Amino acid sequence: MISSIPKWMTGLFGNKLSPNVKVVETTLLSLQVKKIRFQGDLTEWDFSIGYASVIRVSETEFRNYTVAYHDKENGVFDIIFHIHGNGVGSKFIDSLQVSDELFISPPRGKKLYEINEKQQFFFGDETSLGVACALLPLLKKNKHQFQFYFELDEANKSVPELLELENYTVFPKNNSFRNEKWIITLPLFQTHEWKTANLALVGNVKSVQTFRKVLKEKKLGNIYSQGYWLEGKKGL
Ligand SMILES: Cc1cc2nc3c(=O)[nH]c(=O)nc-3n(C[C@H](O)[C@H](O)[C@H](O)COP(=O)(O)OP(=O)(O)OC[C@H]3O[C@@H](n4cnc5c(N)ncnc54)[C@H](O)[C@@H]3O)c2cc1C
Repeated sequence: MISSIPKWMTGLFGNKLSPNVKVVETTLLSLQVKKIRFQGDLTEWDFSIGYASVIRVSETEFRNYTVAYHDKENGVFDIIFHIHGNGVGSKFIDSLQVSDELFISPPRGKKLYEINEKQQFFFGDETSLGVACALLPLLKKNKHQFQFYFELDEANKSVPELLELENYTVFPKNNSFRNEKWIITLPLFQTHEWKTANLALVGNVKSVQTFRKVLKEKKLGNIYSQGYWLEGKKGL
């Protein structure tokens, strides 16, 4: 879905883009990471892992976010937001409070999880914590061998623990994942265990692209990748 539409078009879509969910709880996991619980009618929603919802963050702007947890019966779902402070989406989310109403689309997009491979590797950043939380129960239920790598700002390095993620390593966000020579030294490349793994790479576009290039050169596993944000670019 496009990230912004002209004003006259929002008029045309009318009710379709008007508020359909309500904020029921907000939790600050760090100064930059906020978890919000929403309530709405989810009966028709498909929560496949990797799918994203668009949130209407202004009259004409929409941004992609991932459902981290859902409970269809009670009509609630959680999204974990990176409050980076640079964009209209981040500022809108930061301002949300209990009882606020807003438009969130049903999830759609690219499926990230492939059940058939025993080994599952996941790379991401603050924007990817939600999909990691959605994925974890499946990895455990289906008895995968799994490993998460996160590149996080110093202020957010405790968030994976607060989210009760498992088998994760946190790396500082210092451009290491843009350095092919450094990436090759990661434990992932030091054993044969991950040769046929599913490897999901999400988050910053430049980190994802560099990591993907090294994995391809080293002929590791089946790679799924999707950039979630790029410096200087609005609304991927
Ligand atoms: C499929 C998909 C799923 C996503 N799921 C999530 C999710 O669950 N949680 C989440 O927080 N984000 C998620 N994102 C990323 C989110 O959509 C982007 O970060 C988006 O750009 C935020 O919009 P904004 O209005 O705040 O900033 P924009 O207006 O889009 O951008 C303004 C400026 O902010 C910068 N910027 C954007 N994002 C970041 C960031 N994370 N850190 C630092 N600078 C940034 C841009 O480079 C640009 O310079 C997802 C993206 C995709 C494509």
